[in-house]
Amino acid sequence: MAAAQTDRDPPTDPEFVHFSAKDTSSSWLAVADLQQEVYRHLATYVPRILCRGASGGNSREEQREELACQLLLLAPLEWFLLGEEPAAGIAWLQQNNHPSPLCGHVFKVGEPTYSCRECAADPTCVLCMQCFLGSVHKEHRYRMTTSGGGGFCDCGDDEAWKMSPYCNKHTPSERHTEEDPVAQLPVDMVARGYSIFSIILKYAVDLLTWDQEDELPTGLETPERSDSYLCMLFNDEVHTYEQVIYTLQKAVNCSQKEALSFATTVDRDGRKSVRYGDLQFCEQAKSVIVRNTSRQSKPLRVQVMHSSVVAHQCFALKALGWLGQIIQYSDGLRRILCQVGLQNSPEGENSSLVDRLMLNDSKMWKGARNIYHQLLMNSLLMDLKYKKMFAIQFAKNYRRLQTDFMEDDHERLVSVTSLSVQLFTVPTMARMLMMEQNLMTTIVRTFVDHLRHRDLQGRFQFDRYTAQQALKFGRVQSLIGDLKYVLITPPSDWSPQLRQKFLEGLDSFLDLLKCMQGMDPVVRQVGQHIEMEPEWETAFTLQMKLTHVITMIQEWCCSDEHVLVEAYRKCVSALTQSHNSLPDSEQPISLSLCGHSVETFRYQVSQDKVSIHLPVCRLLAGLHVLLSRTEVASRVPEQLPLGELSPPLLIELPLRCLVLCAQVHAGMWRRNGFSLINQIYYYHNVKCRVEMFDKDIIMLQTGASMMDPNHFLMIVLSRFELFHIFSSTDVRKRYREANKDVVQQNNTLIEEMLHLIIMVVGERYVAGVGQVEPLDEVRREIIHQLSIRAMSHSELVKALPENGNKETGLERVIDSVASFKKPGVTGRGLYELCPEWSRKFNLYFHHYSRADQSKAEEAQRKLRRQKGEDTALPPPLPPPLCPLFASLVNILQCDILLAVEGAVLQWAVEPSGGGWTESMLQRVLHLVAMALLEEQQQLENNKGDDDVTFNYTCKISRPGEAPSPTGSVLALLETLQNAPHLEVHKDMITWIVKTVSNIKTMRERTVSTSTVSTCPGHRAEETLRDRDKAERKRKAEMARLRREKIMAQMSEMQKHFINENKELFQQSLEELEASTVSAADSSAPSLEHTCVSQVCVGPRRAGGAEQRQLVTCILCQEEQEVRGHGRAMVLAAFIQRSTVLSKNRRRILPDPERHDPLFMHPDLSLGIHTASCGHIMHATCWQRYFEAVQVKEQRRQQRLRGHTSYDVENGEFLCPLCECLSNTVIPLLPHTHIPGHSGNHPSLEVWLNTTIQHIAVLHSAHRKQSEAVAEGAESVTLCQNPFSSSVREMITTFSTSAYKVGLKLNPNEQDPRVPVLSWSTCAYTIQSIERLLMDEEKPLFGSLPCRQDDCLSALTRFSSACWTTAPLKTVQTHFIRLFTVLVPDSQVENSLCILDIDMFHLLVYSVLAYSSVHRLDQSSASVDSAHLHLLHLVTVTHLVQILLTNCTGCLSVPDLSVCPSVEEVCMDQDSGSEEEELIYELYNTLRKHLDSVLPVVSSGWQLWRCVKAGILPFLRAAALFFHYLNSTAPPADLLVAGPCQWEALCSFLSLPSNLLQLHQSQHTLLEPLIYRWCCHPGVKQVLQGGGVLVRFPRESNKLIELPEDYSVLINQASSFTCPRSGGDKSRAPTLCLVCGAILCSQSYCCQTEVDGEDVGACTAHTFTCGTGLGLFLRVRESQVLFVAGKTKGCFYPPPYLDDYGETDQGLKRGNPLHLCAERYRKIERLWRQHGVAEVIGHAQEANQTLVTIDWQHL
Ligand SMILES: [Zn+2]
Ligand SMILES: [Zn+2]
Ligand SMILES: [Zn+2]
Ligand SMILES: [Zn+2]
Ligand SMILES: [Zn+2]
Ligand SMILES: [Zn+2]
Ligand SMILES: [Zn+2]
Repeated sequence: MAAAQTDRDPPTDPEFVHFSAKDTSSSWLAVADLQQEVYRHLATYVPRILCRGASGGNSREEQREELACQLLLLAPLEWFLLGEEPAAGIAWLQQNNHPSPLCGHVFKVGEPTYSCRECAADPTCVLCMQCFLGSVHKEHRYRMTTSGGGGFCDCGDDEAWKMSPYCNKHTPSERHTEEDPVAQLPVDMVARGYSIFSIILKYAVDLLTWDQEDELPTGLETPERSDSYLCMLFNDEVHTYEQVIYTLQKAVNCSQKEALSFATTVDRDGRKSVRYGDLQFCEQAKSVIVRNTSRQSKPLRVQVMHSSVVAHQCFALKALGWLGQIIQYSDGLRRILCQVGLQNSPEGENSSLVDRLMLNDSKMWKGARNIYHQLLMNSLLMDLKYKKMFAIQFAKNYRRLQTDFMEDDHERLVSVTSLSVQLFTVPTMARMLMMEQNLMTTIVRTFVDHLRHRDLQGRFQFDRYTAQQALKFGRVQSLIGDLKYVLITPPSDWSPQLRQKFLEGLDSFLDLLKCMQGMDPVVRQVGQHIEMEPEWETAFTLQMKLTHVITMIQEWCCSDEHVLVEAYRKCVSALTQSHNSLPDSEQPISLSLCGHSVETFRYQVSQDKVSIHLPVCRLLAGLHVLLSRTEVASRVPEQLPLGELSPPLLIELPLRCLVLCAQVHAGMWRRNGFSLINQIYYYHNVKCRVEMFDKDIIMLQTGASMMDPNHFLMIVLSRFELFHIFSSTDVRKRYREANKDVVQQNNTLIEEMLHLIIMVVGERYVAGVGQVEPLDEVRREIIHQLSIRAMSHSELVKALPENGNKETGLERVIDSVASFKKPGVTGRGLYELCPEWSRKFNLYFHHYSRADQSKAEEAQRKLRRQKGEDTALPPPLPPPLCPLFASLVNILQCDILLAVEGAVLQWAVEPSGGGWTESMLQRVLHLVAMALLEEQQQLENNKGDDDVTFNYTCKISRPGEAPSPTGSVLALLETLQNAPHLEVHKDMITWIVKTVSNIKTMRERTVSTSTVSTCPGHRAEETLRDRDKAERKRKAEMARLRREKIMAQMSEMQKHFINENKELFQQSLEELEASTVSAADSSAPSLEHTCVSQVCVGPRRAGGAEQRQLVTCILCQEEQEVRGHGRAMVLAAFIQRSTVLSKNRRRILPDPERHDPLFMHPDLSLGIHTASCGHIMHATCWQRYFEAVQVKEQRRQQRLRGHTSYDVENGEFLCPLCECLSNTVIPLLPHTHIPGHSGNHPSLEVWLNTTIQHIAVLHSAHRKQSEAVAEGAESVTLCQNPFSSSVREMITTFSTSAYKVGLKLNPNEQDPRVPVLSWSTCAYTIQSIERLLMDEEKPLFGSLPCRQDDCLSALTRFSSACWTTAPLKTVQTHFIRLFTVLVPDSQVENSLCILDIDMFHLLVYSVLAYSSVHRLDQSSASVDSAHLHLLHLVTVTHLVQILLTNCTGCLSVPDLSVCPSVEEVCMDQDSGSEEEELIYELYNTLRKHLDSVLPVVSSGWQLWRCVKAGILPFLRAAALFFHYLNSTAPPADLLVAGPCQWEALCSFLSLPSNLLQLHQSQHTLLEPLIYRWCCHPGVKQVLQGGGVLVRFPRESNKLIELPEDYSVLINQASSFTCPRSGGDKSRAPTLCLVCGAILCSQSYCCQTEVDGEDVGACTAHTFTCGTGLGLFLRVRESQVLFVAGKTKGCFYPPPYLDDYGETDQGLKRGNPLHLCAERYRKIERLWRQHGVAEVIGHAQEANQTLVTIDWQHL
């Protein structure tokens, strides 16, 4: 495969070496046929330079190739073009360049783009980050998104921006003139430019569009031909990565890794040669690939190509790149290239090179397309003149290009058709194309022609679509996008030609709508359920896509009267045509009711076909409203074809559609399945309703306003199939006795019908229907949303329809109606409706769903009750209607409606029958109220000149006529006012009755004194209401006072009760927490008198008195005393590896088999942390519980094979009480260690000597023992164990867990490292908690939550006992090794130097291990003495350690201001000169030992400061440790944060506050030890930079700093390239919050193998950075990601919020995002508290879908 490369090694080829670009180019100048000469040159060199084998392409070789290309191929071109040394020539060009005012920055994938919501002409106008930051728009309301790649910055394009089109950088200079840039270049260069550009461009076009595999274009063939071929694999969108990789491994016999690399390149560049060799060799690979991939689909495309063809194609791409480069230097050359590109060849029309490229676009591979698209953007699109010419060519070829795109299977992004956004969104360009190329018509026609599947009437038939067709439809959709671009800005002035072409376009658009009118009709299924759900989504997708286009067409029409009238005419005739195609089977019938009769025809929605799709009707409705708005109708009515309209026909189809909805609600269409339900849902949905539901209501309003209201209502009744119920008393009676289902159906239908009437009369917020401004509509929408409840910005945005510019208008009105409440650390900001707007609330708001309505009703009633008002919700005062719709109000007082109202009220009076509901009554009351308001308003506005014709009060006072010969409506209402079953509606009825009497008064006044204004009447009502209100208020106030009094009495009684039963309460509280009564708590009372000199270590220590400890098992609720010999009690716990405290993330994890954990390195790179939820169980209860979990899990896995949030096989379970993730239990042990006050306290010297003696004894004993073992005689030293077997078993359980987790090994109880790991987790956990308390400035004691306190206490006591289950010899050996560090002993090998040991770990281990040695002590010296000596020794060692590390090199003083509490502690007193002197002395001793390494220090002051700050964390951790070990109560000073800590701490630890006295008092004893410490060769090595040097205090780890502005992050991530696939953009750049690394996540390229499994970059990173646990920010999604292990993870809200206090997960909203420091701190705290795993557990429990995500692949 890898052919020998030497013969093609350019620099060694003599010919290459002697080549001169200058000579070549000058020879070209002389020839007659330049093309021939250039081709000959290329034919000679290109194949020799660029013939690469399949595997050729390591980077060195690539560089060499690149160099050869430049020297041999491109340099002659440059010499020829410039006529001089290229560098000089280019410099000259640049000097004389007039850069384009356009920025033209082409966006990379993931790069942030900005659009100004105030100034952008449309949402496609965007700025790059640099331009945005340099523009005024950054002060405006802007939107930020990440680019999908392609497209460029619109800075400098004055058509793209309503104002400020230029940023600072692109502001055009004065000298910019319109003159031809070509004229600025020397004449001969222009000539050479034309000739060389046309040759090179033609060469490139020829080769990129070349389809011969084995031949070259004329002039490029060479006489000697090698027999070398390439097997070229092409990209398709059908086959998956896995399929390709698998196939390649088989076909070309490569490794999986190579195959992956091939696949990645194919996906990126569109093709890749996978084999190099002779023809047969390549053909063989091809046939394997084809055979392997042809089974399910069409095979992968493979070609065997001659290597010289591929070489020339490669160079063609390089040549295009070169052209793009050279024209950047000169606008003149750019213009020349544009001319060359667009010049037609002799073949005529559309034959230019650019045309050829475009027309062959779909045949090219991805890489080629990208490069020539880029060239188009750099050349034609940057030159305004040629952009126009290119646009014309683009439009001319439009249909062909789109057809090619349809056949192609590549994404649109890599198709030339995607350039439409650059051309069509420029308004002048779009209009020019519309006029000259009839673009609108072309687009619509192309679209319609691609949808060929029609029914007999020529309508689309999407409901029969197959998946294949749906896929194709997905591609066709982009045409609608183009149409939208063309229409996005309505013209400000019209030319006759524009009018003509627009109307022509409208004609074809109406043809499209006609194909949709009535499509996908449905028929009610009776008897049985439909067999197959019809496909409905395609039709709705089309509707949704067209919504904005339809709205835009209306905006265009609206901007010109002539166009509007013409469009209206066309629309009417389109509607008439589609009506004509309706089936004529509908028989005419005549209806009569209440003395009115109307002609209509028989049609029933429940039996005949009905369709939801009526776009022609709806467009007409839209245009009708526009007519009404512009008043053309009233001015020149003769121009309108109003006469051609038959109102009953206008309303017919929309009415059917609305009845369909009502019937679906009534449950009549259940058998038609979900397809219909979904359609009804979308019909009302905010995405569609503007051009569906809303327009249907308008059409009904239009029709009704042209009809007799009685006739209108009779038709409505008939279509609702309710006519018979209201037409005869007989039917009504029978109906009420009919079967229950039918009654219920009809009830719902009546409710729906009444609601429809309310909407037809009452919905007036569309400008043109009512007299309103467009913003009023948005305001009303918001008011009604907020009437349901307070909402966040995003919820509101979702509830409002967006226009074509993605704007809702929300921001323009929201502040006038609502107030904003900021969010806390969780939650989001909310808008609340200002109370004064709630009187605009309309219960029957047309966009409420039934659920919304009842929620809003409840909320509003509650609000009114709180305010002490009545709960009536009368309709708000509506805006007046426009003249064209004015007659709508008459519906309210027409006879039919009165009859309906009368009937419903009559039923309510006698509610025993079934046919009646409260909703029905409520709607009738609403209608009555609307009528009364209308009358009242007319009376108020009446200036007295004429009578008010609206006389509802009079009509309802008349007794009803047949068929309801009962009392009048008013009388019925008065009867109902006192009906007990209508309590809820009482307030409303009262309101009505009162209003009626007010109106009557008003009428009387106007009659008596017709000139008097109606105000007094109004005021009378007002005062009546006021009085009513006052009364209610008074009552409410009294009730409140009464309540308060009762509350006060109750709380008084409670207090007494508590005081009397204090103990009882105490007890129950404790039970509630189910926690151990920790020693600290129980000894609290004694605190006051012992706090003076409380000591926690040594013979003088206090506390630890024997005390009974009672706990309750959460599983069996039994109480139990904690005893060593009793039943074991355990605490649920979670143990995990941790790197939170790590000061060295680069340390490679130790080999678990050989790792020696006895000495913790001070960099704390890997620790074991234990946490607990604090819940206690019997060991036996827990075991039973865990077994049950195991069994359940096994069964579940057999059934579902999924994961759970916990891994049982790893011992994980959820705490049975709080569901907290746990993986082990800590046994609870009693405190047995009584202070040995009786024992004597030997001096350090004595103790050291005894201990050294003991060690010597042990050494010999061990030697003997091992000899004995060698001889086979097992001699086990059995010691009397203080614990029962059940307790011992639990001790082993936890030790084993610590071992298993800490070393990642299978449990092995015999391993001598077992106890060490138990001690380790104790020490590490204490250390990490000490850091947290310090950084959060909390007191050392008393501030820990119960669960942590219990956990530490249990953990420490356990650690002190765990040695009992290990062989004594093991523990003793550990002690000996630990002790050797302090007292170096030549007998023990490999002892570590003190700089490589964390002293706190050493302290804990040696104290805990000492117990095993103490047994030997016959001197009755107490264990406590030993502990104290150990503490003193380790403290001194630590002092030395700090002095050695802190003072090396620069003598940097730790920045104390970082941590205020450290500073407090260290600065609280003017530490005496004694310390300074002593430390100076000590330091100089150290210098003496290590002379050359430590620097000179002039005084001790700074040293003392360093040491004090450095040792503080150690002392605090030691205090915690001994406090828990010995159950000593802490001194009062340490229970509060603040100064005086040092003294208290030292005295608590039985240390002198001048620590140096430790050294001073034992000078002679310690001096030799210090000498030996310093002499360890490791010390010098580390200090001289040979190891990891840790300084003290160790600074606490924090998560990385994040920028305030989120777009900075996006920008950083967008320039991040995948480290593995050669400078490729990463698709999911992800930031590690712990170390700041950016990773290429969720991608094949960066998968790594971890423990034999392929994992994504994030998971792989967690194993090096966080030992399996990671916190990341997915930059492009704006999402925090937590992962733990390989199988667990969850998403967490990011710490970035927009101005509305909301996160934007997925970056969908695009509002500017800013860092919320509190939320970030919360995440950091979670991490530092080791709570991430628990959060993941809870998230996975709460959301099962998280469990199914393959977290390891992220
Ligand atoms: Zn820019
Ligand atoms: Zn700019
Ligand atoms: Zn702006
Ligand atoms: Zn129990
Ligand atoms: Zn729990
Ligand atoms: Zn990291
Ligand atoms: Zn990658």
